[in-house]
Amino acid sequence: QLPTVAIVGRPNVGKSTLFNRLVGKKLALVDDRPGVTRDRREGDANLLGLEFRIIDTAGFETDDPQTLPGRMRAQTQAAVREADVALFMIDARAGVTPLDEEVALWLRGEDTPVILVANKAEGKAAEPGVYESFGLGLGDPVPLSAEHGEGVVDLFDALRPHV
Ligand code: GDP
Ligand code: MG
Repeated sequence: QLPTVAIVGRPNVGKSTLFNRLVGKKLALVDDRPGVTRDRREGDANLLGLEFRIIDTAGFETDDPQTLPGRMRAQTQAAVREADVALFMIDARAGVTPLDEEVALWLRGEDTPVILVANKAEGKAAEPGVYESFGLGLGDPVPLSAEHGEGVVDLFDALRPHV
């Protein structure tokens, strides 16, 4: 039984891109339209030799259980609760949004350890967003570029104590 890592964050930050990179196959649909990952996807990940089960989650817009986004959010919360560690991903180019703050508030109240990942961190355009994310109260962000494969060693160092 491999340890489990859940990737969580608002739509379009790059969760599925990281999932695909770690699993090494295109199991998750990457799309720049928000909310394209409709259900949770799992795969066996390998990060520089570190092996774990990874879950790509979707949905955090509403907690109304009568709606599809509400059910997606409930599924995301269940995945985080079952996981050994959560990767909370923000888009460093977009900066911290109200929805990021909402997810962070929820994560701070959960027992699952959280690693804050500031994605899309390639280049200088991401620097203000990386800096801003210190304010989420989830520790130091790991700057990452899931698309370009930058920051992978720092992600390894952050994950290793948990998996
Ligand atoms: P999700 O909704 O969080 O699963 O996000 P996706 O993985 O579907 O990615 C959303 C968009 O962000 C896609 O157009 C990706 O190509 C893009 N993206 C993902 N990672 C990066 C990154 O590291 N840098 C940049 N610039 N774009 C990225
Ligand atoms: Mg996705």
